[in-house]
Amino acid sequence: MSTYDNVIEVPFKNRHQCWFCAEPADSQFTFPHQHHLVFDCPHPTLTVPSCAECSSMAAKARVRNIWHVEQQVKMSLMRKYKKDLAIGLNWTQEELANAGFEGGSFEGFQRSAWFMYEVAKARINFRGWPIVLDGIELEKDIGAESFNFDGICYPSIEEAIEHYCENFTLDSTFLRQILAKIGSDKFARAVRFCRLYIGATPNEKAKALQELS
Ligand SMILES: [Zn+2]
Repeated sequence: MSTYDNVIEVPFKNRHQCWFCAEPADSQFTFPHQHHLVFDCPHPTLTVPSCAECSSMAAKARVRNIWHVEQQVKMSLMRKYKKDLAIGLNWTQEELANAGFEGGSFEGFQRSAWFMYEVAKARINFRGWPIVLDGIELEKDIGAESFNFDGICYPSIEEAIEHYCENFTLDSTFLRQILAKIGSDKFARAVRFCRLYIGATPNEKAKALQELS
């Protein structure tokens, strides 16, 4: 048996859960660790319960505190499960159930897709419980804001932009320009507007941007 440093306290309702994604924790993750030296880590070395998948994603994070690791893990999960997450952009549960794929080669997809979407969404949306070591709660020092949109808590607005641009084949520069103009709180409107100009020329986009208020 190996020894771990400073395992954080785990609330009863979270026992057996991965601190990153709430799936069953069959592993642990310690930060900082020997393969990534952090000279200005704001917290003591600590260990969180974790699933094997999140542990291996977390081990690749080159950041300076556990909350940044959490953000990196969410980004990795988003990239890995982007197809599952896209189900929710392209379908409602009802549409999918009535899509008429029965008997065809898509029947399996139709059966499992919504479930896969819900699992991926729950893992992305889950936020680790407060970190308590020896009865003392550590102050969360994140530095970057997560971005909530349409039921998904993205690690940051960058991931939301990337996810939508990829799914709808949008021009990400154009989407950013629109957001800069109307504000990130109008994300839905920005995406709709951007979708109107798929295939438009740079001139048409520049003109549209000018007229946008
Ligand atoms: Zn996990």
